[in-house]
Amino acid sequence: MISKKMENMVANSSAIRAMFEEGNRLAKIYGPENVFDFSLGNPNVPAPKAVKQAILDILDEEDELVLHGYTNSNAGYEDVRQAVAESLNERFGTAFAAKNITMTVGAAGGLNVILKALLNPGDEVITFAPYFGEYRSYVNNFDGVLVEISPNTVDFQPKLDEFEAKITPKTKAVIVNTPNNPTGVVYSEETIRKMAEIMEKKQNEYGTEIYLISDEPYRELAYDGVDVPYLTRYYANTIVGYSYSKSLSLPGERIGYLVIPDDVKDSETLIAAANVANRILGFVNAPTLQQKVVARCLHEKTDISYYNRNRETLYQGLIECGFECVKPQGAFYLFMKTPIKDEKTFCQEAKKYNLLLVPGSSFGCAGYVRIAYCVAYETIVNALPKFKELAKEYQL
Ligand code: PLP
Repeated sequence: MISKKMENMVANSSAIRAMFEEGNRLAKIYGPENVFDFSLGNPNVPAPKAVKQAILDILDEEDELVLHGYTNSNAGYEDVRQAVAESLNERFGTAFAAKNITMTVGAAGGLNVILKALLNPGDEVITFAPYFGEYRSYVNNFDGVLVEISPNTVDFQPKLDEFEAKITPKTKAVIVNTPNNPTGVVYSEETIRKMAEIMEKKQNEYGTEIYLISDEPYRELAYDGVDVPYLTRYYANTIVGYSYSKSLSLPGERIGYLVIPDDVKDSETLIAAANVANRILGFVNAPTLQQKVVARCLHEKTDISYYNRNRETLYQGLIECGFECVKPQGAFYLFMKTPIKDEKTFCQEAKKYNLLLVPGSSFGCAGYVRIAYCVAYETIVNALPKFKELAKEYQL
């Protein structure tokens, strides 16, 4: 009855739902404090207080017909886009104007908009494993083909030789996500420069345009002062997809934006296409109240020290147990090597200790598990003895 395409997607999504239901089932048996659910990337640091205040002020101050109405442009309120552009220019030395910004329904909405605007059926989109598994669906939505670059498990920087070899005349876009979900790794400036060189070379060789899509919901979640390069400064055909889901802890409000700079080839046409895509994908425009809220909260920050404490404690704890992992530099995920090849069996074993982890194969990287540490600090402290017992099973 349902479409062939959806049959697979429904099957996959029931695996995620099954994990969620398993968490609830275990919580009922053992009590929620004894279940260590590291499966979801839902921020547990509340939104900054300024967000609530902005909502109250906006409701008091703004004309309600305008506030709750459709926006004049599908790209969003002009004043909001101008404010976002100015804030980016201040931070990154760019020269964006309101027209370069399209407000979107989170990063997910933004990625679907830009892929809808760019892809013809059969076009290839390259991404680097491990990667956010939803990219498969987003690319498939527009009959594109996702091409994976295999993971470099030494430091999780992209494998650039393989990247160069896999670019073809059909390569339309490359999606990068840094700080990365699931590894927490930040792609270095050297990586970005080399990647840009390769794409320039291939564009010239094939006479094509290859668009770099920087998916950056975790931009503000970077630790130890690590620099997260702003990609429009390295490669002209760069589009940025941003989200406030994690940076202001607003995932349910569905607000983010795309940046399509003037330097992008045929940028005006692409901007127009993105705005139409926003409309015809059914978003119409990004949520209006939240557009106004983020414009008033551009200088607000989530409490990154909370995630940082979780990161340090979890990383140290796991290393002491004998597990292997690369220390995350950003986001709120840790990608741990499993002591056996089959990480799904490892996840089943972990569940016996009420530890809920996500298999790396969901991110195109078997032999690893993702541990989302956007949880209460106590959850980490109380989970570590369980990890210790689990490690002992494997003689670590
Ligand atoms: N991209 C990555 C890498 C993510 O991890 C997520 C959410 O977890 C998204 C995009 C979607 O985020 P949003 O809530 O802004 O749609």
